[in-house]
Amino acid sequence: MRLIIMGPPGAGKGTQAAFIAERYGVPAISTGDIFRANVSQGTPLGLEAQRFMDAGEYVPDEVTNRMVRNRLSEDDAEAGFLLDGYPRTVAQVAELDGMIGDSGHSLDAVVVLTVDPEEIVQRLLQRALIDGRADDTEDVIRRRQEVYAEQTQPLIGVYRDRDLLVEVDGMGEVDEVTARVLKALDSISKH
Ligand code: ADP
Repeated sequence: MRLIIMGPPGAGKGTQAAFIAERYGVPAISTGDIFRANVSQGTPLGLEAQRFMDAGEYVPDEVTNRMVRNRLSEDDAEAGFLLDGYPRTVAQVAELDGMIGDSGHSLDAVVVLTVDPEEIVQRLLQRALIDGRADDTEDVIRRRQEVYAEQTQPLIGVYRDRDLLVEVDGMGEVDEVTARVLKALDSISKH
């Protein structure tokens, strides 16, 4: 399976991605996690990405695309993957199409978690207390939501037009949401 999970910041993508990836035996690839690992190791990529992340802005497409292309060329992603946090711009959609097309495959589905924006701010502030992520302050959270609305929300229409969209209600308990996602995906994988 070649899957994407989308949704606004705080929708629970990372949490659900882990369950979906396990179910389908594919790696969950989170661009946010890869960037954060690079920031904490002080790599050149991390140094390049950090100021954008701290401000709640997107890392430039060129940097992100290169990183994803490298990651998808690793052996474990050959038979499938679940992308969490990519693509996030229309330009990244085109780039990903190229990467998947080059390997002679196609996308199977794009899961979108729908959530209430106010509830999300609360979730993220809560997460800030637990994980201490640098970009989980209220101002930066609001900026990430704006950037999502401007740059990433339009991708939903793009994938809907391709008949790839699987919209799932992301509100409620984690295991309820997981059950909804897996049910929706199972019905696709049997087609
Ligand atoms: P969230 O979904 O909670 O905002 P992520 O962990 O997915 O957080 O991403 C954290 C940050 O990493 C983003 O705010 C952005 O700066 C950067 N980032 C992650 N993925 C991308 C991407 N595809 N394009 C550009 N920037 C990205």
